[in-house]
Order: sequence, then C-alpha cells, then structure tokens
Amino acid sequence: ARKKLGKLKKTPAISLDGIEVTLLANIELPEDAHAALEAGASGVGLFRSEFLFMGRTGVEQHLPSEEEQFLAYKQAVQTMKGRPVTIRTLDVGADKPLEHGEHNILNPALGLRAIRYCLKEPQIFLTQLRAILRASAFGTVHILIPMIAHAFEIDQSLAMIEQAKESLRIERIAFDENVQVGAMIEIPAAALSLPMFVKKLDFLSIGTNDLIQYTLAIDRADHEVAHLYNDTHPAILQLLSMTVSAAEKAAIPVAICGGMAGDIKLTRLLIGMGFRELSMPAALLPEIKQEILNTNIAALEPSVKKILRTYDPQVIQELLAEVRELRL
Ligand code: PEP
Ligand code: MG
Repeated sequence: ARKKLGKLKKTPAISLDGIEVTLLANIELPEDAHAALEAGASGVGLFRSEFLFMGRTGVEQHLPSEEEQFLAYKQAVQTMKGRPVTIRTLDVGADKPLEHGEHNILNPALGLRAIRYCLKEPQIFLTQLRAILRASAFGTVHILIPMIAHAFEIDQSLAMIEQAKESLRIERIAFDENVQVGAMIEIPAAALSLPMFVKKLDFLSIGTNDLIQYTLAIDRADHEVAHLYNDTHPAILQLLSMTVSAAEKAAIPVAICGGMAGDIKLTRLLIGMGFRELSMPAALLPEIKQEILNTNIAALEPSVKKILRTYDPQVIQELLAEVRELRL
C-alpha cells in the first residue's frame, strides 16, 4: 500500500475524461510544508499565518517581528520549491483569539476579526505584508485576504500592499512585483455581490467553514448548534455555484480551502460544479486524488445540475448518493 501511495504522489489528479484538478495543501506553520510536499500537493492553497501570532508566551509574547515572519514565510516558500504558496494575511478574532490586546468582545464572530482587524491596525498589517513580499523573492507567493465583505476593504488592502512594495523599493529589498492578490469568499455578502469587486482580484478562495457559519447562523465552535451544520444546504450550494460562475466570467481561478474541499463525500459534487482547485489538510490529499482519478466529470454533470435546481434536502441527499455511486 505504501508503494501504491508513493506512486500516487507523483500522479497528477486527472479525471477519467482528462480534466486536471489542482490539489493543494493547507498549512498552519512553515514546517507543515514538508507534509504538503510529501503528500504530493501542487502547492500550498492556504497558509493560516495567524498561527505564528497565536499562543505566544514568555519572551515571545510580543507579536512576531517582520524578520521572524519573513523567515517563516521564506521557509515554507523554499520547501515548496517554486510551487505556489498562498499566504493568508492575519485572520485573528473569533475562534482564533490573539492574546495581545484582547478585550471583551460582544460577538467575536461578527466582530473585529481578520481584514477588519488588519485595517484598524495598519502597522501590524504593513509589517506582515512586507514580510510576505520579501518571501516572494524566493518562490511563488500569492496573498490571500480573509473575511472580505466590502469593496473598500479590497481597495484599502491593495493600497496597503502597494505601500509595502514602495517601502521595499526605496530600501532596495527584493520582492516579486507581480505577486497575485486574492480574496477569501467566506461571508455570504461577498458571494452574493462578487461583481462588486471580482475585477480587482487575481483569484478567489472559498472558506466554507465560515461561509457555512455565517449563512446558516451557527457558531462553528458551539456544539449546541452542531446538528444544524449542513454543508449541502441549498443556500450553501447556491453560493458555491454563484462563486464558480462569477470567477469563470471574470476569468480568474477559484479554489475551495475550507473543510468541504477535503471531504471525499463531496469531491464529485464539487468538481461536477466546476471547481478545479481544492486545498485541504495534506493527510486527506491522497484519497481525494484517488476519487478524482476514478471520476468522469462529464458523466456527473447532469446529476449535479439537478442537485443545483432542487431545494428539497431529501432529494439533494438522494442525488448526492447517486453521484457518489456512479460507476464510470
Ligand atoms: C474557512 O473559513 O473555511 C477557512 C478556510 O478559514 P478558517 O477555517 O481558518 O477560518
Ligand atoms: Mg475562515
């Protein structure tokens, strides 16, 4: 079995009808990039940079400096040997608390988290952007902005990236001038109004964990409402479908980097909907690849279209079972 998996590692994820799906890994710390490479990932689709900022104690209590961050990002980038590394800017707040300066927040999931926090703390944001840009001189780096809901948040983020670039130019520090910038689609408002800002971006990445939390109004950390979690709720499927269409229209790639991307029960549904990039924990990558290798995408499209046309949860489950069992 080990040999089979070893061979699978180098095999691209191409469906029976010849369509390639790019499989990427999610990482939390730079050393996780080794596991990503080992699993055969084509790149890092989500580097959750907040893990460099969280749980710091003793002498490290202060936030990581530009240099410390630069070394961490560079390590991940160099480990991936030219494969793209998508670094998400600081996504603290809610389920990812930052010890530094934390106060009583009324409703953390709806509060000052992620890009909202970064735009309020421009110095912290600029420091991180400079560190990410410096790492871009050592490979292929993409910048991913979390929790976007407003066009001005993109405008301000792009302006801050330009400011960070300009400061590096003045200091003659190397970075990739063409580093791509994308947004996480994880607030329903963003999915529903993509034409508002999609033209300003190089790519999209859907965070299904938060998209489900905010669409169904269930706190992702509250067990009392876990039974209401339903990733095939018609509202979720519609939002995913709208996002694929909008990305297609704008001719930019769209990935899924939330938990749905690593759920083998959903792989055929997602690629049948048109997704061609999935980012997941490295350990799940081989089985998802196997599923794609065993799938004829064209053959599932009629059933997937039916799923997207129905609002009956029972019928959705039946059609999903049909899609999963299709022998191709
Ligand atoms: C998500 O929300 O789906 C996501 C990928 O980001 P996180 O789980 O880190 O919020
Ligand atoms: Mg999220």
